[in-house]
Amino acid sequence: MEILVLGVWAVLSEQHNNHIRHVSTYFDLSTGTVAFQNFERKFTLSTLNSDAVMKNIVRALGMLALLVLGAFNNAGTTKYKVRKIIIDAGHGGYDSGALGKFSKEKDIALQIALELGGILKKHMQDVEVVYTRQTDVFVTLHGRAKIANKKNADVFISIHCNATPKGDAAYGTETYTMGLHTSRHNLEVAKRENEVILMEDNYQANYQGFDPKLPESYILFSLYQNAYNDNSLKLAQNIQHQFESRVGRKSRGVKQAGLLLLWKTTAPSVLVEVGFITHPQEEKYLNSKSGQAYIASAIFRAFRDYKNELEANS
Ligand SMILES: [Zn+2]
Repeated sequence: MEILVLGVWAVLSEQHNNHIRHVSTYFDLSTGTVAFQNFERKFTLSTLNSDAVMKNIVRALGMLALLVLGAFNNAGTTKYKVRKIIIDAGHGGYDSGALGKFSKEKDIALQIALELGGILKKHMQDVEVVYTRQTDVFVTLHGRAKIANKKNADVFISIHCNATPKGDAAYGTETYTMGLHTSRHNLEVAKRENEVILMEDNYQANYQGFDPKLPESYILFSLYQNAYNDNSLKLAQNIQHQFESRVGRKSRGVKQAGLLLLWKTTAPSVLVEVGFITHPQEEKYLNSKSGQAYIASAIFRAFRDYKNELEANS
């Protein structure tokens, strides 16, 4: 504000020092008005050479415009922006994930992840998309989290398929945030997704001796608190809302479970179970081009709403 005042004053006074040296100029950003105050010697602008005054007014307005633009640019850099999203296709390589009748979780997850990344790159060019894998390769859980943490991710979205034991006809979508499970099913999901660490070398060292098969291990997460909880929840709710209201999928809700992947990630993070590969119709849907496009577009819209909401409130 002072810079604006000084700027206007300096330009106006430069060539008319004799006339307006006693004038202090006040520019009010909130009302957009310029006021002259504290006249010690009365004068009007008409007493000054009108050409010179016009020239100086134009210069003053020019400087003002630059200063105002500068102020807005500054505001832009200090405001919170969601700029980087990590898209994590679950499993890969020799870790197939859950199996359906004719397909594997790792393939569905990768196809949806790539579809989502494609939509983001096309429609949100201010957001950088980083994949944890773009091909059929094995990536450790801590390796995935490391990519997100190293890249200073603003959002981490992991894509998976759900599964149930034979005879269970469960179907629909769930989105998980990190926390303590409140049902047996949520614990089973966490166990299944965490058990992939058993395929990793040195998993005991990398996960502090965590045994994904032992329910007792999960007590650790009852103490879990994280600065990203609120935002993770917001994003998870948006995703489930999109699945249910825009894509016509059954929403099984936003859930919490002790997921090592989310535990290791220092960013708002969710794990999306996009459907049950063990449910015959859902398996077909998950493998169809249109099904994958619907799922990816729902996650995209949920992310867009999350981004807009956060940026508007910052
Ligand atoms: Zn999985």
